[in-house]
Amino acid sequence: MVRFLALHVAFPAGEVKFQSTVWLFRHAKPVIMLTGDAKDRMTTLLLTHPACLAHDTGYGHPEQADRLRAIERALAAKDFADLKREEAPMADLAAIERLHPKSYVAEVRAGIPKELHNWLDPDTVVSPGSWEAVLRATGAVLRGVDQVMAGTATNAFCAVRPPGHHAEPSRAMGFCLFNSVAVGALHAREAHGAERVAVIDFDVHHGNGTQAAFWNDKNLFYGSTHQMPLFPGTGAKDETGVGNIWNAPLSPGDDGEDFRTAFSTQIAPALDEFAPDLVLVSAGFDAHLRDPLAQLRLGEEDFRWVTEKLLEAAAKHSGGKLVATLEGGYDLDALASSTAVHVRTLMGA
Ligand SMILES: [Zn+2]
Repeated sequence: MVRFLALHVAFPAGEVKFQSTVWLFRHAKPVIMLTGDAKDRMTTLLLTHPACLAHDTGYGHPEQADRLRAIERALAAKDFADLKREEAPMADLAAIERLHPKSYVAEVRAGIPKELHNWLDPDTVVSPGSWEAVLRATGAVLRGVDQVMAGTATNAFCAVRPPGHHAEPSRAMGFCLFNSVAVGALHAREAHGAERVAVIDFDVHHGNGTQAAFWNDKNLFYGSTHQMPLFPGTGAKDETGVGNIWNAPLSPGDDGEDFRTAFSTQIAPALDEFAPDLVLVSAGFDAHLRDPLAQLRLGEEDFRWVTEKLLEAAAKHSGGKLVATLEGGYDLDALASSTAVHVRTLMGA
């Protein structure tokens, strides 16, 4: 029996505190718009790999290979002819082990079955193809970081699975094995000399794994909009790390306007103040109205809007350097159309 239950379970809401408007006005800064030449010079890299299809979660699991097939069909349209396309390489274990202890990496590897399925937690299923898939998924982010930091691409989108943002340094959960954006952030610092790296996460679920990875490090920024209460139960406003964690929870039923207000007032000013050398994005599209795992009511235009805001922040602080990777999104049509809008916006179109 398939046991992917926890993502459906509602958790009690955390204590909600409101920030003062004085703080918001004090930190308000002008926004740089992307127009004309700046848009024309953008090269967007698309990283994916067929091995990501071989991570088999079993019949009826929402995190299924058809998600990537739907994205692949959408990105085959002629609007995407200018994408620079590459197959995702497999990540070096040394890069993964900057975040995840060797013992945990070995435990995940040992948990991959020779046939059929194994459950690392009630949601997180692995199959014989999962090891290569997760190395490709993490390798995509590392390759995206390498190319964007080297200036051979302006920004990148990684169409990969399994997702990563629920994976804590020593714990697989919520469909996630290795936390690819957090691994990417540490790689940008170690291999490319980035001093400050931000992860913005607009997946409908809170990225507990990324928050845990960044909790004590003031040079890593985590900003998340997410539904609360919802799996995994973390992400309250008062979870602030060392002043580097910015959670903006939304309520079930909230729409695009609520999302834009939360992002503009609770995430964007802090991101601007942080001034990242690189922007990483946990791009989950399960806040869409049609998604079966949550109750927010975003549409494609909201994903376009937030992508534009992230590009503006990257243009202002990081020379446009931005790498996005796929997290959730479980209605196949909504996922495909939302991803297409996100990637088209990254291309400056
Ligand atoms: Zn999600």
